[in-house]
Amino acid sequence: MTNTKCREIDWDLTFKTKHPSKITSDITNKGDSNKRSFALKLLCEELPTLSKRYIHKPNLYSSLSCILCEKLVEENNMHIFTCKRKGQIDPIKNLTNKFKKILIEKIKKEEPDLSFFDVIKDFIPNILVTKVKKICRNKKAKANKIIIDVLEEFQKILKQIWKERCDKVIE
Ligand SMILES: [Zn+2]
Repeated sequence: MTNTKCREIDWDLTFKTKHPSKITSDITNKGDSNKRSFALKLLCEELPTLSKRYIHKPNLYSSLSCILCEKLVEENNMHIFTCKRKGQIDPIKNLTNKFKKILIEKIKKEEPDLSFFDVIKDFIPNILVTKVKKICRNKKAKANKIIIDVLEEFQKILKQIWKERCDKVIE
C-alpha cells in the first residue's frame, strides 16, 4: 500500500469494524464471528480463491483461472467482486449503488426528521458532514470539498431529470 493511500484510511474505524464485538457472555456468537472472519480475510486478501488454492495445492486444482469467466482471468480476491460472470453488466456500478442506498438509509435512520427530499433540495445533513469528516480524519476542508463535489454531481442528475421532463412537456 502506498503512503498516500495509507494516510487516507481511518485505521481506527477500519479495525473497529473487523474486531469482534464485546464479549458479554460465554456463548460465542457464531454469526458474528463468521462475519468478522470474512471481513478480515477480505481485508488481508486471504479469501481462499482459486489463485490461492492453486498455489498451495496445484495437484488438486487444474488452474487459477475464474471458472465463471469466458476469458482466462486469475481468480483473486478482487476478481470475486469484479467478475462479470459472462454478462455485460459492470458489477462495480451495482455495488456502488447498493453502497449509496445503505448510506442514505443510515442517514435517514440517524436523522429521522430529515427526509431524502431535504437532501434533494440540497440541505446538507449534519450526520453526513460528521461521517465524511471522520473518513477524512477530521480534515474539515477536505470533507467539505468532498460533500460539495458529491452534491454538485447529484445536482447534475437532478437537472437531467428536470431536463428530460421539460423535453417531454410541450409548452
Ligand atoms: Zn470471473
